[in-house]
Amino acid sequence: RRVALCEQVGEVQAGKLVRREITRILSPGTLEDAGLEEKSHNFTAAILPPRKAGEGFGFACADLSTGEFRVTELPDAAALLDEVIRTAPAEILVPEGRVGELPEGLPAVEESDPWPFDPLAARELLQAHFKVHSLDGFGAADLPQGIPAAGALLHYLTRSLRRDASHLRTLRPYRHADYLLIDASTQGHLELVASRAGRGMTLLGALDRTVTPMGARTLRDWILHPLVDPAAITARQQAIGDWIAAPLRLGELRERLGAIRDVERAVSRLSQNSGNARDLAVLARSLGAIPLLREGLGMAESGLVGELSLHLHPLSSLREQLLAALVEEPPATLRDGGMIRSGFDPSLDELRSASTEGKAWIAALQEREIARTGIKSLKVRFNAVFGYFIEVTTANLGSVPSDYTRKQTTAGGERFITPELKETEGKILGSEERSRALELEIFQRLRDAVLAHVAELQETAAAAGALDALASLAETARLFGYTRPVVDGSAVLEIRGGRHPVLDQRAGGEAFVPNDTRLDAAAEQAGRMGIITGPNMAGKSTYLRQVGLLTLLAQTGSWIPADSARIGVADRIFTRVGASDDLSRGQSTFMVEMNETANILHNATSRSLVLLDEIGRGTATFDGLSLAWSIAEHLHDVTGARTLFATHYHELPDLARTRAGVRNLNVAVREQNDRIVFLRRIVEGAADRSYGIQVARLAGLPGSVIDRAKEILANLEKAELNAEGRPALAGTRRRTPGAADPTAELPLFG
Ligand code: ADP
Ligand code: MG
Repeated sequence: RRVALCEQVGEVQAGKLVRREITRILSPGTLEDAGLEEKSHNFTAAILPPRKAGEGFGFACADLSTGEFRVTELPDAAALLDEVIRTAPAEILVPEGRVGELPEGLPAVEESDPWPFDPLAARELLQAHFKVHSLDGFGAADLPQGIPAAGALLHYLTRSLRRDASHLRTLRPYRHADYLLIDASTQGHLELVASRAGRGMTLLGALDRTVTPMGARTLRDWILHPLVDPAAITARQQAIGDWIAAPLRLGELRERLGAIRDVERAVSRLSQNSGNARDLAVLARSLGAIPLLREGLGMAESGLVGELSLHLHPLSSLREQLLAALVEEPPATLRDGGMIRSGFDPSLDELRSASTEGKAWIAALQEREIARTGIKSLKVRFNAVFGYFIEVTTANLGSVPSDYTRKQTTAGGERFITPELKETEGKILGSEERSRALELEIFQRLRDAVLAHVAELQETAAAAGALDALASLAETARLFGYTRPVVDGSAVLEIRGGRHPVLDQRAGGEAFVPNDTRLDAAAEQAGRMGIITGPNMAGKSTYLRQVGLLTLLAQTGSWIPADSARIGVADRIFTRVGASDDLSRGQSTFMVEMNETANILHNATSRSLVLLDEIGRGTATFDGLSLAWSIAEHLHDVTGARTLFATHYHELPDLARTRAGVRNLNVAVREQNDRIVFLRRIVEGAADRSYGIQVARLAGLPGSVIDRAKEILANLEKAELNAEGRPALAGTRRRTPGAADPTAELPLFG
């Protein structure tokens, strides 16, 4: 919904209508304080669908509450959807009549007049806004689809919603290919920033030890946009490493950072005319923390930290100006005064003392008049209609002196004024009114002083946010014994003693069992695909998610919970989680499963990491197994991606007989008196059986049902094997015509 605010503008004149204007329109993307989540961005986005073949989608998003403004182009509908899910805009704008060209699954969209999407109009609007002659300076000149989206977005914010967007100071173009791409369903499956189990169960929840709102927003961005450039990743790792090695310095740094408040949002509010003196105080206090912070970073150990500290501007004269002017705890309102310190402005002090003296005179008046008239119950009072007056009860009306003027009769008596009283009242009200006006004027001067430094303030906030995010990663790494992974351009994925970052921090319950991972897409013999079998509840899904999270975490530049690791950067992470594990989707689960799998098979590359958890569960056993088998073959032979494939089909490991890059793994269990004990350890080899009956027994199925199931299983297993006692499936794909024993021929053709 949108709400239009209509306000009186211009002077109030007796007998005339006051001019009114729609001053702003509130909408989900332009929320202010109320309802605004401190730890995340609140974006409004604009999308321009391709106009001709070969073009992509233009995508721009802006956060008025922080001043962030980004633009990019996305090659296709799937990539667009991923990006929309990642930025989670509160509003999306598209050109009128073109909603139908957007992919399904987008949140609500708003149609806009198409003209601001016109490339020329958009470019002119942006250039006028940024006061530049070309967008080259932003590196945004070469985005034929992105620029119109950015222009239309700016138009929407400033013209339709009537917002001041002068604090959107730069347009940041980014390239899809600069980040590890995480498609929408993977973001959900890996529970990066949201989980049905609450924020505490997300990756962000486990990592976030930030102490500023900018830091929290930065860390969230980093998790949703991991990097692919090993050099950029190493720069962050280095900064984290230096602080881990100096925990006292890290503690000090975090304490100093903690004094910095939400500078970004304070600046944004001030530049949009909705800020107040508290925002000025936030800035003054935050700037006060900068010199010490910079001093602490003085011996800027790593390149990245050194670079960031150059962007911290203490703006000391601005800060002093604010401190000198503002009271300790300014009010949230602008028009009631009380913002400015006494001693700051002589005229203000004069007005204030005039009002104080007048009030003191009135406070003493009651006693003086009681003494003069002898009326003990006489009262001096104030109301909004009459101002100050003297009240005398009916019984005493005879003693009222002649200089009183009667103003009003009430039930119990009468109200009077005197010329002296009215004169003093005039002085008080006049000086109060003027002092409030003067305070507002001073506030506006201070605000203008702040707005002259928007760029430096935003730079400072961004640098503090990045330092805070790094410090938070260092703190988490220190607390939970993370190590620094080697991140390079190889196709290796090697983790020793890896732990699930979220479960690792879970207190109480079962201790987390670390596991190893070893895949290499380039060297087939080392294994590019792991097929993981094991009973339900053994820990397959957890292991898959762990590998995905550790890879992603390593690419954010963070250290990771593992004894050691070497991770060749992935270009994308795909996950597919079995329908029955994915309760939130409830709908036609088999179709969802196949949609997601199709996406993976079409888009995964040899640089991707693919995590498949239970393919084919949503259909009949033979269908499901056949699909699982051919999907695995395709990923191994054609895609060549690093892949982990968890399955309940314990026939699938037979793929290793024909595919050199397939390694079989299983989650170890121990049987104790026909009962199953989960060891949570990933070991080489295929699980010999699925232990469904033992798990069912753990769940408390009646003994008679368990016994009967065992009997049936025994019969089934007899029929399932072929004459050689081998699973019948191993040789079905590449049968050699005329061969007596197809399985014997396989190594030659595999
Ligand atoms: P599966 O996918 O094999 O059915 P899950 O991965 O869902 O099993 O794991 C079942 C439970 O086992 C999870 O609730 C998890 O808490 C626990 N678990 C899994 N892996 C580990 C581990 N390495 N250490 C400790 N507990 C684990
Ligand atoms: Mg599972």
